[in-house]
Formats: sequence, structure tokens, C-alpha cells
Amino acid sequence: MTTTDDRPPLATLIRRGLRLRCPACGEGKVFRNWFSMNDPCLECGRRFDREPGYLLGSIYFNYGVTALLVVVIYFALYFSGTLTNNQRLVALGIFSLMFPLWFFRYARALWIAFDEQFDPWPNEKERRNMSD
Ligand SMILES: [Zn+2]
Repeated sequence: MTTTDDRPPLATLIRRGLRLRCPACGEGKVFRNWFSMNDPCLECGRRFDREPGYLLGSIYFNYGVTALLVVVIYFALYFSGTLTNNQRLVALGIFSLMFPLWFFRYARALWIAFDEQFDPWPNEKERRNMSD
């Protein structure tokens, strides 16, 4: 069992995720450009892509936020009566294509930050692999 006493509070982890910074040290940048990650962290060495498929969870996170926003915006537009049905369809279609591209980096950084809260790096298995 890893000790969790030295991990930052969840609010700090979320703030670091929103700033696209390493959740462990808060200094290293998670991304070096729009789609490429620095892995491991250039400041503290934390692995961002811990194992194959690890970052898949960020896709669910991205999808969930996008779907929630589409529903909220749909009803806001519906009840404001400013757009016709077809205009709403086109606007939300464009939004649902563009928003996930923009949110991609934040979804990954937040996914990594949440993971740091529940399974701080390195866990017991990763420690064992590093010592081998
Ligand atoms: Zn770091």
C-alpha cells in the first residue's frame, strides 16, 4: 500500500490539471504542443501514460463534459427561442465537433490529476518495476 499523506489535496490537483501541469509537482507541463505529451514529467519524472490504455479514461471524461454541455446549451437555446431547429442542429453539431478537440488536453490533464488523487504515482507495482 502506498502512503497517501504527501499527495496534494484534490482542489490543488484539479487546479494543476486545468493549468495543464503535472499533478504531482505542479511545475512540469503535461503537453509540449497541442497533441503531444511530455512523458515522463520533465520536472519530477512522474509518468503521465502509466500503462497501455491508461489515458482511455480521458476520452470518457471528454465525452461526458461535451454531452453535458450540448444538453445544457440545447435547452438554453430552445427556451430562449433565438434559433430555429435547423440552426440549433448546425450550431450544436459544430460545437460537438470542435469542443472535444479544444478540451482534449484538459480532459487528459484532469484525468491524470484525478488518478493522482486515487492512485498516486508510483504505486506498489510501478515501484517494483522501477527497482527491477
Ligand atoms: Zn512533475
